[in-house]
Amino acid sequence: MTLKISISGVRGIVGQTLTDDVVTDFARAFASYLKRGTVVIGRDSRASGQHISSIFIDTLRSLGISVIDIGLAPTPTVQLMVKHLKADGGVILTASHNPVEWNGIKFVRSDGIFLNEDQAGKLIHIYDTKAFKDTAGDRGSIRKIDNSYDVHINRILDVIDAGSIKKRNFKVVLDSCNGAGSIITVQLLERLGCSVIGLYTDPNKPFPHNPEPIPSNLKDLCGRVVKERADLGLAQDADADRLAIVTEAGIAPGEEYTMAIAVQNVLSKAKAGKKFVVTNLSTSMMSDDIARRFDAKVLRTKIGEVNVAERMKKEKGLIGGEGNGGVMYPQVGYNRDSLAGIGLLLDSMAGSGKKISELISELPKYEIVKKKMDCASSNEVSDMLDKIKKAYKGTKMDITDGIKLIYPEAWVHVRASNTEPVIRVIAEAKSLKEAEALTSRILDL
Ligand code: MG
Repeated sequence: MTLKISISGVRGIVGQTLTDDVVTDFARAFASYLKRGTVVIGRDSRASGQHISSIFIDTLRSLGISVIDIGLAPTPTVQLMVKHLKADGGVILTASHNPVEWNGIKFVRSDGIFLNEDQAGKLIHIYDTKAFKDTAGDRGSIRKIDNSYDVHINRILDVIDAGSIKKRNFKVVLDSCNGAGSIITVQLLERLGCSVIGLYTDPNKPFPHNPEPIPSNLKDLCGRVVKERADLGLAQDADADRLAIVTEAGIAPGEEYTMAIAVQNVLSKAKAGKKFVVTNLSTSMMSDDIARRFDAKVLRTKIGEVNVAERMKKEKGLIGGEGNGGVMYPQVGYNRDSLAGIGLLLDSMAGSGKKISELISELPKYEIVKKKMDCASSNEVSDMLDKIKKAYKGTKMDITDGIKLIYPEAWVHVRASNTEPVIRVIAEAKSLKEAEALTSRILDL
């Protein structure tokens, strides 16, 4: 297993591919990339985080960069604090939804958005060529701050109808996978008048399951929601940028529904005029159908949060994100944010007076199938894409990112993952059988 270095940052297995030397050199590279200034740093709850954080902070300071350490914090909280504190950049130590033996580094620029492809390319070039700035000059300062959760929560409360939500006194079971969302999310829900049952909300305990918030990992949550007769179950990944929903009936409908509900909420309140939803090529068609209801348009980008964020900022998108449960709401920030997603979801429930299962049943109905296949090299990927291109000659195609084959009421998207050594094959259609058939045909090739 090699170290994964990409537009989404760096991920590796701690001590094997993500060694202390790798962490030190990436800190040197980021200091050299920024040249000077202040960096906000936060981390998820992995046991290795504390150690990696101290190496990173010490290295940045030795190169004259000042550091504001916000400690255990969701990725979206760090992104928001970079902007709030007018810092020059940010660093999040997390391997997101990867298992516990992994850790990683995400790099944020001064506007709270991740480095884009060009910027990440520059940083990686500095890392590869070891073209680090020299150590001469004053050591950077260090400051710890402890109000970042409040800043984030207040921002969300300002842009939703918190009063209506409070009146409902929702009962919510929360599975933060004992990750970075554990404490702040309980605080957000309590400030929204919810009674919170923290299923896995202790960041000092290990991950109770794989942190990816997909239905197969949410069995405990589903059971607990039913047992507690709760209104809702919520699940986050380890750095709390992704959010999944469990209905009051204990059903996990899949992470695609999170963004769809947020899109429905924001578009239903939007003023007349140009209305854009921005999302990536692999996200459900539900958004297109919802957008049509409100005379809005969906803009699609390459995979990678920064691609969606930059397009959203440029086109003044109202809402969007990624179908993996990554809601992006510009009024809070140009980044995936499970807490903003929770705010919009509760706002929809309070505003409509409907149960979460009812809100879901009103959404367009599609079946999405997500498969992945191990791949050894990038040559293997391009061979496969060539094969598909030939086999599907004449079919409508989008080749912005891998290949997306587009049919009137279905699509299949094949591409190399940014974060894992796998090829992803995602298909959506009106029936599960049809979606399965679309992926099978590709995998057979
Ligand atoms: Mg994540």
